[in-house]
Amino acid sequence: MDFSSKLLENAVYEMSQLPGIGKRTALRLVLHLLKQPAERTTNLSDALQKLRNTVKFCSSCHNISDVETCEICANPKRDETTVCVVEDIRDVMAIENTGQYKGLYHVLGGKISPMEGVGPQDLTIVSLVDKAKKGVIKELIFALSSTMEGDTTNFYIYKQLEGFDISTSTIARGIGVGDELEYADEITLGRSIMNRIPFEGSLKMN
Ligand SMILES: [Zn+2]
Repeated sequence: MDFSSKLLENAVYEMSQLPGIGKRTALRLVLHLLKQPAERTTNLSDALQKLRNTVKFCSSCHNISDVETCEICANPKRDETTVCVVEDIRDVMAIENTGQYKGLYHVLGGKISPMEGVGPQDLTIVSLVDKAKKGVIKELIFALSSTMEGDTTNFYIYKQLEGFDISTSTIARGIGVGDELEYADEITLGRSIMNRIPFEGSLKMN
């Protein structure tokens, strides 16, 4: 792409570093912002900067939160004996949208992926095991996508929890192999979590 302006080229380059945004889309977005009132751009960059500089993670479940303990963890009506293990906040949002789940979450921050250089130590697994040691958790629900990385991560955590009196299950029906949770519709995902199956059973099926 030949740009008549270095400023434009820089802005398009930065925009195109975002996932799913190619150079053409980046150019379209940047030109769109130029046509809008200047405060639109200011508001956007302010919001992103504020988020980046002051973002916090819940000290218990590691979900993105504006306060030390997130609303879900702080809610006394939630069942603290059931913990759903998810990759990131998008999964929490997807499951919360179903309105079917009343337990807590544990946000791993990713999946074990040797290809991408993500090991167990890069995720919040130690914190999950520490939580398990306290003896409050009775059931752990694995809700990672059924990709190789998701399965590896589930199995790693499952192994770490051997010897604890915790039942493990995995979300079931309707979530196809490789489907990302956030793309599942609410009813399907709601059913998947209500009809979860024991994790050991899911291993034998493979
Ligand atoms: Zn929390």
